[in-house]
Amino acid sequence: MITARWTGSSLRAKLLASYLLIIALGVATTFLITELVAPSFFEIHMAEMMGSAGTPSMDAMMRAGQSTTESLRTAYITSVTQAVLVAAAVSSLFAVVASLFISGRIAGPLRRVVAATRRIAAGNYAERVGIAANGDDIGGGEGRRDEIGQLAHSFNEMASSLEATERRRVDLLGDVAHELRTPISTLEGYLEGLLDGLVEPSQETWARLHSEASRLHRLVDDLQELSRAEARQLSLKQEVVDPKQIAEVALRRMERPFEERGLSLRAKLPAGLPPVLADRDRVVQVLNNLLTNALRYTPPPGAVTLSIERIPGPGGMEEQLLFRVADTGVGIAPEHLPHLFERFFRVDKSRSRAAGGSGIGLTISKALVEAMGGRIWAESAGVGNGSAFSFTLPVARGMSEAGVARYHV
Ligand code: ADP
Repeated sequence: MITARWTGSSLRAKLLASYLLIIALGVATTFLITELVAPSFFEIHMAEMMGSAGTPSMDAMMRAGQSTTESLRTAYITSVTQAVLVAAAVSSLFAVVASLFISGRIAGPLRRVVAATRRIAAGNYAERVGIAANGDDIGGGEGRRDEIGQLAHSFNEMASSLEATERRRVDLLGDVAHELRTPISTLEGYLEGLLDGLVEPSQETWARLHSEASRLHRLVDDLQELSRAEARQLSLKQEVVDPKQIAEVALRRMERPFEERGLSLRAKLPAGLPPVLADRDRVVQVLNNLLTNALRYTPPPGAVTLSIERIPGPGGMEEQLLFRVADTGVGIAPEHLPHLFERFFRVDKSRSRAAGGSGIGLTISKALVEAMGGRIWAESAGVGNGSAFSFTLPVARGMSEAGVARYHV
């Protein structure tokens, strides 16, 4: 119980308590030692006095009355002074031992945190500190809860976040290298074939080379966007915009590719939708990504529907608009649903690559929607049963139609 209280109380209270303890120890030792040794010192002095004068006669004592009082006084003062000096020495020793013990409990853990900080700076991100109630190193986990315990906790949180960032950086480099390798190898193969005369320098070859170079370009653009999104540096121009108009712009851009693939593109855009607060270019970008994916993963003669509806926001308070792109395509297995928005995640790598996918479109869409204050998610009844991607945007409150930004293509 006492240990628990000591572990939980603040460092300030602990320091105050330890100072009071040292003072109390000092006072008690001084008192005790003085009590114990002062009478003995006094007796020794008296014995010395008697010894030097021999056994005096009453007359001699009377004659020597004046000087005896003086000697008694001296003996008393000397013995008290000596007793106090001894007591002071003993209590100082106690105070030094107690101070060393207490400062050790504070300085020891702090030294360990400093050493751990140095190791982190040297690149050892797995470093963690754990400080037990008695100041011992417990190598991470739940330790004492005073300011030093809190410092260790914050240090561990910082170390975890650094470790996660570092892991993301290393993974990203690996993923990027992997993604670049495929189009570069294809380009290299074709160029080598052309050099050796094994590949015909035909229209088809040039078209293939051009398509690989375009894929590289798209990948680099997407990577740049992804790196901005991950560093939370996406530039947004939030305005009050008409959702129906944004949807129509996105639909118009996709009409041709859908027609060419033999898919029908439908829209369910009810009248009287309230304006939303968003960056219209970015909303078009997200819709574009979702519609392009639907186009890629829906075999003809399928259908893709873009719909917008009003829904209550979190807690039933703020109203939101729900944008939804539903397709009758290949669908997504339940185990893949939670990973769709992770960068470079693709259910079928070769299929996505062949269709020109980079595996980061949904990651960028998620970053964009979240930066605009919305949420994005995917649903599917399983493989072969189509999928639906939905995202929300906050309704712009108290805005008149006149204040709504118009969008021109
Ligand atoms: P990609 O460029 O590969 O399409 P995305 O990040 O846009 O990358 O999508 C990630 C993965 O999610 C895709 O590779 C695909 O496996 C899956 N996916 C996305 N949209 C759909 C969809 N409409 N139907 C089925 N699977 C989809």
